Formats: sequence, structure tokens, C-alpha cells
Amino acid sequence: MSVKEIITVPDEILRKHSTEVEKVGKNEKNLIKNLFDTMYASKGIGLAAIQIGVPKRIVVIDVSNKDQEKKPICLINPIILKKSSETSVYEEGCLSIPNTFIEIERPKKVWIEYIDQNGKKNKIICDGLLSTCAQHEIQHCDGKLIIDFLSKLKKDFLIKKLSKQKNNNQKVIV
Ligand code: ZN
Repeated sequence: MSVKEIITVPDEILRKHSTEVEKVGKNEKNLIKNLFDTMYASKGIGLAAIQIGVPKRIVVIDVSNKDQEKKPICLINPIILKKSSETSVYEEGCLSIPNTFIEIERPKKVWIEYIDQNGKKNKIICDGLLSTCAQHEIQHCDGKLIIDFLSKLKKDFLIKKLSKQKNNNQKVIV
């Protein structure tokens, strides 16, 4: 088990555009395992590789309930082919933005094409929470964060607050 440190705002790494995976080799398989370990350890329902500092288009998701069997999903080079006009709204949090929840409206259903862990092309239809989570993670691959849905004023305020918290934490640790 290898739990990695999750990078948080305002680290500029999170703004990087991740590059496509050309081949699912040993390194990528290791990375995927670390992503799942880190996501489960942090009690998140999704994690993108860039959040542990690796700019590759790989995301892991598991939206199953605690008392349900685990349903791990790994999407490599995910592309949204189609979005429903119907939308749903969730209060979204992000492992890279501590203690922050933002209400975001997104397409309720998305059709995604991706490469699976065996390097094969595959498709998945995501609905409801899974759809929101997949869209959130894919945006990480493009350097986009949920705070970008806020007005500039609110966003600047939040980043300032989070930066301060970070500094305080560092002081405590020292
Ligand atoms: Zn996130």
C-alpha cells in the first residue's frame, strides 16, 4: 500500500494540463494502485493523478457507499463524448481544497470514452453522482478546479484564506 501526499491549493502544479498516456505499462499500473490507495485512505470518491503530482491523464473513482462492495473505476485518457441537457446539482468538495464545499450544476449524464487498465478502449455511461465525480476529475486533468466556478472575488478570498491556513499549519508542524 502506498498512500501519497495530496497536493493542495494554491500549489500551481494543480493548474498543469496533464498529458495523454501512450501506453499502460508498469509505471502507469503502479501509479493507478497508488491513486486508489490514496483515494481510499483520504475517504474521497475520486482522485486525479495530478493531485499527487503526476501530470498524466489518469483518474480513479469509487462512488459506492461505505457499506456496499467497492466499485473502483479507473479512466485513462477520458474524453466526454456527449452530455445530457438535464442537469443535477451537488455540493462538491475536493481533496486538494480542504474544508470547502461548492454547489455546482453539471450535466446529469455523460458518455465517456477511455482506456482501461489493460490498455483497451472502453466506454462508460455515467449518471448522477458518478457523472459529477467523473466531470470533476476530468477537469483536474485540464488544470481546472471547483473554485473556478466561483466569481473572481470569492475565489481570491478563498485562496487567501486557504493559503493562510496552510502557513499556520506549517508553523504548528515546525
Ligand atoms: Zn478534486
